[in-house]
Amino acid sequence: MRDLAGDLSLLSINTATLRKQLALSAVIETCARRGIGGLSPWRDQVQAAGLAQVARQLKDARLVLTGYCRGGFFPATDAAGLRAALEDNRRAVDEAKALGAPCLVLVAGSLPDALAGKPSHKDIGLARAQVHDGIAATLQYARGVGMPLAIEPLHPMQGADRACINTLEHALDICDALDPGRTGALGVALDVYHVWWDPKLTGQIARAGAERLLAYHVCDWLVPTRDLLNDRGMMGDGIIELKKIRALVEAAGYAGHVEVEIFSDAWWSRPADEVLDTCLARYQTVV
Ligand code: ZN
Repeated sequence: MRDLAGDLSLLSINTATLRKQLALSAVIETCARRGIGGLSPWRDQVQAAGLAQVARQLKDARLVLTGYCRGGFFPATDAAGLRAALEDNRRAVDEAKALGAPCLVLVAGSLPDALAGKPSHKDIGLARAQVHDGIAATLQYARGVGMPLAIEPLHPMQGADRACINTLEHALDICDALDPGRTGALGVALDVYHVWWDPKLTGQIARAGAERLLAYHVCDWLVPTRDLLNDRGMMGDGIIELKKIRALVEAAGYAGHVEVEIFSDAWWSRPADEVLDTCLARYQTVV
């Protein structure tokens, strides 16, 4: 298992972690200044700053990307909606390529309009079929561009509105169906927050192997958790066995960055420097 103490080159900051405090350009600047090795930006932040400008700043700062967040949300109620989702995913693939990201992270989506609180139907089987087809079509395009796709299974509590792929096993089943040759074009973004509870986790991480493990996200699960989306914990403040899971991931061959991704009203209300100082300290001790 790799020793992270004193080595910030393997640390990546998902920019959602500081989205309420800093604009993207300031996140890039402060991460580079601290010697942090990687960054994973979100599309809305990149769009606000300008794609070309962000690409230039990342290059100048010598920060590598560890992913681009995010594509997905494939299900829709009609053909036009399905087409629009595919077009948007192709744009996301192109943006990821322009930024030099190693993969585009996919959050599958689930029941159409559920995110707005008004699901247009209850047929999760249909949503899953549309997700399968959407990933297949996007993979075809992404292969041509040379941009790997990383499916991120989400915790089942988000199964209605954000993702109908809720286990690593399900994500890997889709990978095996669409990329049986394990070419590196399709894999998973493994986020401890979403998978820590899974009794099949150990076996499925081994099954994934280096070819499928395209990104590794950390934070912690707080007890109690007060919000389904924005109450993630800082590493070490919750109950996830972080070192144990990282050992499994590295034993399976993962040699990439450790990406800190914390959606938290509590941490968003603190100064950016305090959040980053804490991330750095915890990354070196409890992750
Ligand atoms: Zn994640």
